[in-house]
Amino acid sequence: MKIKLLRYTADAELLCGAAALTSTKSGSPSEILEKMDKETAKRIIKRVAGYGHVSVIEHASFTFSIEGVSRAMTHQLVRHRIASFTQQSQRYVTYDTLEKYVTPPSITNNKEAQKIFDKTLEKISETYQNLLKLGIKNEDARFILPNAAKTNIIVTMNARELRHFFNLRCCTRSQWEIREVAIEMLKQAKKTAPALFENAGPTCVELGYCPEGKIKPPECNVEEIKKQFRNM
Ligand SMILES: Cc1cc2nc3c(=O)[nH]c(=O)nc-3n(C[C@H](O)[C@H](O)[C@H](O)COP(=O)(O)OP(=O)(O)OC[C@H]3O[C@@H](n4cnc5c(N)ncnc54)[C@H](O)[C@@H]3O)c2cc1C
Repeated sequence: MKIKLLRYTADAELLCGAAALTSTKSGSPSEILEKMDKETAKRIIKRVAGYGHVSVIEHASFTFSIEGVSRAMTHQLVRHRIASFTQQSQRYVTYDTLEKYVTPPSITNNKEAQKIFDKTLEKISETYQNLLKLGIKNEDARFILPNAAKTNIIVTMNARELRHFFNLRCCTRSQWEIREVAIEMLKQAKKTAPALFENAGPTCVELGYCPEGKIKPPECNVEEIKKQFRNM
């Protein structure tokens, strides 16, 4: 997979800092933004977010290209309703080569499983091609395509939604592929706007404890995870 932060709000931290001060200062947002500096912005964002007024970070948005992932992953991704998406269409783009699918590591690491998996995917590809040859349209031939089918998607989220997405999808309870995507998105977003993504990551990184209670996987070490994400 390839994840690339394509575009983001310029001076995102200054802008969100200015938004936060707009509620308590007599000056206009443009005057406040003009005087804003990085350190002040960081301090104000932290303070205001601490009160729970996280809407101020909605003014910053981030657009990612997510390439070569499975449809199984994007099906989960698009459940995040506060984001905007545009996905490669299986009506316009023909699924026609064997490199078009994602193989989970658990299958790659098991020779017998890999054999069955590849054989089935080859058969699907062949059937798909045969349907097209019979004059069936892409939009109907795609009904036999697997969750493993590769796809590209572009997603835009504001910083508040991104933090929420990271809470859920960087968590070890999340599925491996969306978790890998989320962690890479977090790395790139944090590099661009560290103050907006301070303490971002699975919910335990923000709360300091795991809210999952009894369903927390026993192998999940919250202290290690907190270290990993805070140093990211
Ligand atoms: C580990 C894991 C397992 C999962 N398993 C399943 C599963 O088995 N089956 C399944 O169907 N889904 C499953 N999901 C998906 C999950 O139920 C959510 O649909 C998904 O994580 C999106 O979360 P969200 O609704 O909080 O986020 P978003 O849609 O991004 O929304 C962000 C926030 O906005 C607010 N919001 C958005 N829309 C509304 C609304 N209509 N009304 C009120 N508030 C709103 C909420 O506060 C919400 O948290 C799973 C998710 C995870 C992380």
